Amino acid sequence: MTSPVWPPYAHLKTQAPPLRVVGGEGAHFKLDTGERLLDATCSWWCMIHGYAHPRLVAALREQAGELCHVMLGGLTHAPAERLATRLVELTPSGLNHVFYSDSGSVGMEVAMKMALQYQRLTGKPEKRRMLSLMKAYHGDTTGCMAVCDPEEGMHQLFAGLLPQHLFAPAPRAPFDAQPHQVEADLAGLRQLLERHHHEIAALLMEPLLQAAGGLNMTSPAYLRGARKLCDDFDVLLIFDEVATGFGRTGQWFAADHAKVTPDIMVLSKGLTGGYLGHAATLAIDRVHAAFIGDTAEHAFMHGPTFMGNPLACRVALESIAVFEEEDYLGKIASLNHILRRELLDDTALRAHPAITDVRLLGATAVIETHTSAQLEGVAAFARKRGVWLRPIGRWLYTMPAYITTEEEMTRITDAMKTWFLR
Ligand SMILES: *Cc1c(COP(=O)(O)O)cnc(C)c1O
Repeated sequence: MTSPVWPPYAHLKTQAPPLRVVGGEGAHFKLDTGERLLDATCSWWCMIHGYAHPRLVAALREQAGELCHVMLGGLTHAPAERLATRLVELTPSGLNHVFYSDSGSVGMEVAMKMALQYQRLTGKPEKRRMLSLMKAYHGDTTGCMAVCDPEEGMHQLFAGLLPQHLFAPAPRAPFDAQPHQVEADLAGLRQLLERHHHEIAALLMEPLLQAAGGLNMTSPAYLRGARKLCDDFDVLLIFDEVATGFGRTGQWFAADHAKVTPDIMVLSKGLTGGYLGHAATLAIDRVHAAFIGDTAEHAFMHGPTFMGNPLACRVALESIAVFEEEDYLGKIASLNHILRRELLDDTALRAHPAITDVRLLGATAVIETHTSAQLEGVAAFARKRGVWLRPIGRWLYTMPAYITTEEEMTRITDAMKTWFLR
């Protein structure tokens, strides 16, 4: 019997039937077969506290008894107000205004609309294109597809439908690059800005870690250089921290490594600890102030039904509280230490002919191979070892929940290594 559920990113003819999950606890989820699988991906990088975290579950229960949902048009409520205040406190200084939506993709759509309208409201209506990067992934909605990598990305099929934006080469200098080593990467940005700044509303990027486009990592020096270029060419800087936000790169936000404030910043995935879909698009005063005016054009015409959902805001507040009270940055540093020891320092692994690179940043590690064929069967292989791995293309990675223990982390890295070193 075939299921009526249409699975994501799936080739329907060849896709193996999905595993049936009945519950979860900590870094594991449980299948109807009785198996417990250790989740190396924390469910597309969002379940940062793992499954069934007692405090997050209790917060949801409590909020459900008070108010599950109310529209944000003309109304407000304590969870939305308190979360916005917390986000302003936690994010780089200057990001003082919070626009809610219900997913990372929509959060990015909001960011792009905001940037374009800002330019129009400040007398530069010809600035309406985006400058993105190769290897970028910003979501699957139409506006987002148009700023994903147009060659290696997964949306080539829709090229004819999409607005034509500009793409700079993906940065190549690694995380620990010195300022002079990012010059070539910045030159790629500068070239496009010199030629096209008059028509560019914003430069957008996943800071430090281009995630779904191949876990490409770059340096804080690149972010600082990009910030300066945006200032020089009067272009807004948008950080898509949907994947990097909430600890993934080792700081609260990737922007913190560079001490850079973007003009607009988007958060989702880890925002609610993964317990509900939600997103926040934050803006600096200058952007927000441009929307204060007398004409009909000054209104920002966006308002997702579920923006500021009380359950989502309440669980996000609890997630942030746990993150702070239980020293998650310390936990992430420990995971980074284990990943370094088990993967980066393993010379046999790094010398393996199938492998082109092993990289690491915060609680993220990736083994890059020549072709995706070299990873065919790795999920079934890992399952036999009690681990849930799901590579993206030719990238075998882990982005574990931050509560993953040392024993669990090494079980994940062992599954990743043994696939090659059998
Ligand atoms: C996942 C992701 C998105 C899209 O978020 P959804 O909630 O899946 O719409 C956007 N940008 C980045 C960097 C992401 O990793």
